[in-house]
Amino acid sequence: MANLPNEVSRRRTFAIIAHPDAGKTTLTEKLLLFGGAIQLAGAVKARGEQRRARSDWMKVERERGISVTASVMSFDYKGCAFNLLDTPGHEDFSEDTYRTLTAVDSAVMVIDAAKGIEAQTRKLFEACRLRDVPIVTFINKMDRESREPIDLLSEIEDQLALDVTPASWPIGMGKTFRGCYDLMKDRLILFERGGKQDEDVVEIKGINDPALEQNLKEDEVARLRDDVEMARGLMKPFDLEAYREGHLSPVYFGSAVNNFGVGELLSGLAEMAPPPRPQKTLTRVVQPTEEKTTAFVFKIQANMDPKHRDRIAFTRLVSGQYQRGMKMLHVRSGKQLTLHNPVVFLAQDREIAEEGFAGDILGIPNHGNLRIGDTLTEGEVLQFVGIPSFAPEYLQSVRADDPLRAKHLGKALEQLAEEGAARVFRPEIGTDYIVGVVGALQFEILADRIRTEYGLPVKFEQTSLHTARWVESDDPAALKALVDETRASMAKDHNGDPVFLARNAWHLDRAQQDHPKVRFLKVKEQA
Ligand code: GDP
Repeated sequence: MANLPNEVSRRRTFAIIAHPDAGKTTLTEKLLLFGGAIQLAGAVKARGEQRRARSDWMKVERERGISVTASVMSFDYKGCAFNLLDTPGHEDFSEDTYRTLTAVDSAVMVIDAAKGIEAQTRKLFEACRLRDVPIVTFINKMDRESREPIDLLSEIEDQLALDVTPASWPIGMGKTFRGCYDLMKDRLILFERGGKQDEDVVEIKGINDPALEQNLKEDEVARLRDDVEMARGLMKPFDLEAYREGHLSPVYFGSAVNNFGVGELLSGLAEMAPPPRPQKTLTRVVQPTEEKTTAFVFKIQANMDPKHRDRIAFTRLVSGQYQRGMKMLHVRSGKQLTLHNPVVFLAQDREIAEEGFAGDILGIPNHGNLRIGDTLTEGEVLQFVGIPSFAPEYLQSVRADDPLRAKHLGKALEQLAEEGAARVFRPEIGTDYIVGVVGALQFEILADRIRTEYGLPVKFEQTSLHTARWVESDDPAALKALVDETRASMAKDHNGDPVFLARNAWHLDRAQQDHPKVRFLKVKEQA
């Protein structure tokens, strides 16, 4: 029997957040390379392409060159077991991204050294902040002309309201980039274009060690000493607690494409990043080292393999240990579920998982009985919380091209809603379905999926609707009054919960004023 506390404490489950083009794919590939999970750089993209070629509905993905699907990659480094959860990085934001962030214990934020904080960096950062996810920053592309390091650091502090502390300090940039001074370990790490995996590390005794002059030019040494003095004077010192609470981010400078800084980043994660955290339920907090196994579903993905019309429920182990063949209670249905063939996601492929520990991610194949937010236990009745549903920001109506197939459309929409790909509302009055998403591009993806997966051509159409709010009240009469008075604006979601569809901000305000005992919710916990 493996030692559970040991296994848990060596797990690092994290995601990379970045604006498109900052270098997330390149860094992912290099992390896998350093972790020994792939042999050749280039494998991540190549594999993605293969997968795309196989799957019809991913046409959207191919045409737009965006990655709609997210996956999990596991690898070992320096005694730690890493699980890297991929988040779709395109401009169009999806709920999947938020939910993936509910399943990680920390994140790496990649920033392009020439561009600094970009729109998507900020959005993803805000999603992390909602849960105080600790963040390590990697400033990438130092081999190109970039902005001054101190500028970049201040920008992070000012724009994200996040304290930063440099973990390394760059020497030059672009053509004159020479490497970094490791501020945590007082070492010099020399840059070499093209990059090898073993970095050129020069052990020195502090910033005043004359050994510096043997490796760098005189003016480089002088500048470095000034910079380091300034950085140490101006910036907060590293504080593990502040980092783990999500208030302070250590910052590395590097060049992913040249393998530079990747080893330091990984070592940093191994040393600083938090192991699996406790997770709240409606009734108690579950500790990762509890012997009994618990887990929650944070993402459903359909048609990962078009040959089998399976759905994979991405499930995070919260406590204990999973072993192949074990039985678990599916709390929502009260049924037993035998885990015959869950998969783990190694960099190269999926593999049947033989065992797993708190912090690991399992992919459980199923036919639609597992839903986002579901809890699995060894018998205790628990419901994990913190896996949110967001009120959609875009609402459109949808109709099948062939009106006789409206029923099929209903079924397709119901499944997509269960998967969390969209919110689907049935208005109290009228027959059209209203579909809500958090990013406008999602409509096209949905139309493509409904056509290819369900053989049903459909049209999405603009509506006069502005936003949706789940409504609830401790006073049933107050809720009924709202429903009665605003029937034309009321709908039900796929769980049958009541929703208010507002035409504009004023309409929503007005309903809130008229019905003070009703709560209008932007975020709903899955239950
Ligand atoms: P993603 O959209 O965030 O996944 O970004 P990619 O990893 O696909 O990188 C975007 C582009 O930047 C690609 O052309 C990469 O080759 C390039 N790139 C990534 N890292 C570096 C780097 O360290 N230096 C330079 N010069 N280019 C890089």
